[in-house]
Amino acid sequence: MRHASIARTLLLTAAVVATRLPAPAAASGQQVDDSATIAGYRATTDRLIAAATSDSAAWLRLAELTDRFGNRLSGSESLERALDWVLDRMREDGLDNVHAERAMVPHWVRGNESLQLVEPRPARLPMLGLGGSISTPPEGITAPVLVVSDTLELAAHAAEARGKIVLFDAPYVNYGVTVQYRAHGAVWASRVGAVAALLRSVSPFEMREPHTGVTYYDSTVRRIPFAAIAIEDAAMLHRMQRRGQPVVVTLKMEARTLPDAPSRNVIGELRGRERPDEVVVVSGHMDSWDVGTGAMDDGGGVMVAWEALRVMKRLGLRPRRTVRVVGWTNEENGDRGGEAYRDAHAPQLDDHALAIESDGGVFRPTGFGFTGSDSAFAIVRQIGRLLDGIGADTITKGGGGTDIGPMMERGVPGMGLNDDGTRYFWYHHSDADTVDKLDPAEMAKCVAAMAVMAYVVADLPVKLPRGGPRPAGE
Ligand SMILES: [Zn+2]
Repeated sequence: MRHASIARTLLLTAAVVATRLPAPAAASGQQVDDSATIAGYRATTDRLIAAATSDSAAWLRLAELTDRFGNRLSGSESLERALDWVLDRMREDGLDNVHAERAMVPHWVRGNESLQLVEPRPARLPMLGLGGSISTPPEGITAPVLVVSDTLELAAHAAEARGKIVLFDAPYVNYGVTVQYRAHGAVWASRVGAVAALLRSVSPFEMREPHTGVTYYDSTVRRIPFAAIAIEDAAMLHRMQRRGQPVVVTLKMEARTLPDAPSRNVIGELRGRERPDEVVVVSGHMDSWDVGTGAMDDGGGVMVAWEALRVMKRLGLRPRRTVRVVGWTNEENGDRGGEAYRDAHAPQLDDHALAIESDGGVFRPTGFGFTGSDSAFAIVRQIGRLLDGIGADTITKGGGGTDIGPMMERGVPGMGLNDDGTRYFWYHHSDADTVDKLDPAEMAKCVAAMAVMAYVVADLPVKLPRGGPRPAGE
């Protein structure tokens, strides 16, 4: 090891040990011998982990949020009341600079809706209109159903689709692959002359609960109504078709998009002791779909980020840089919260050392996915080792979050909390997204992971080096 770095290592280690004491400033841009430096944080991060896992504060707060306000779709009163509640509680917690930042958000409303099987027998089928979908005429659309497993089958049967309702019975592969049917199914079906479309819910497992989510139209084809049905019913209608039984349904939807509505990102901070203008963001999104209670998607992410700050504060820790918790608005259908933040903070984005988001459930944490330079990756991977005691030490390349995406496109290093997502899509965007599906102890470990990663990055004498890959769109 070269002389210069030994001296720097000693300097940095001294700085780390003296976390509670103001440490001599280290010049920005200095290389960090990260393993020694970061190992020096172990005592402090063990305290953070012990404190975070000593109670169920995050879970209890999530239960209160979801019990008090239920689901929180963009444009809804329940979202705005929940945002007020968060601001009040953050002030009670004594966080710094608690405030809201305005964002105009899409305002889609579901209205009444139903799906009736007419042929081969009468039955009411559970359904959920997809976010952004248009309505049917008041009397609904009654038409034969053409069931296809994928786009190839749709192309093969395009001639039969005109005037029918196309059902995409696409088995779940993984979210990234299967969600394409939800995103683009209405356009694909309309292109072959369908009058409406139905979707096998994007989920690997369920108890006859449909899953909603955003869908998109494009200006090249006529917009048609689009709704999700339960996996069991998609499979049943497919069997009926294979048996040669005519399948006819009546779809009724009152969905419509109102003018954009005002909403807010909510923010609270732990101001940095030495470089308060440099920021580490920890976050999750406050909005949810209008079903279930938005517990794992994504009230849990906000509560984990928020609790990470509270634990630091409780231990009397104040890192060099500011740690800022953000509860985003409008992740589910527009990402206006993330965009508004990017634009409002454009002059300060260079001072954003890192942005972390939790939006994949708060089950047992496994680590983080990171997008940024190789040298920064080497540092955060070292920090990950401090989480080996709770099994959250796997740091992988790639990752971030929808809401932090806009600022990541401007070069801010981004990170997503990874967890055991086995059950996440069982409940995702359905009425079953409730707090009881989450384990308080696992959630507390998510708090510990977020607190350790944010604290060390915020306290390192040297800001995470920039550069490296940026998400698409730059
Ligand atoms: Zn989400």
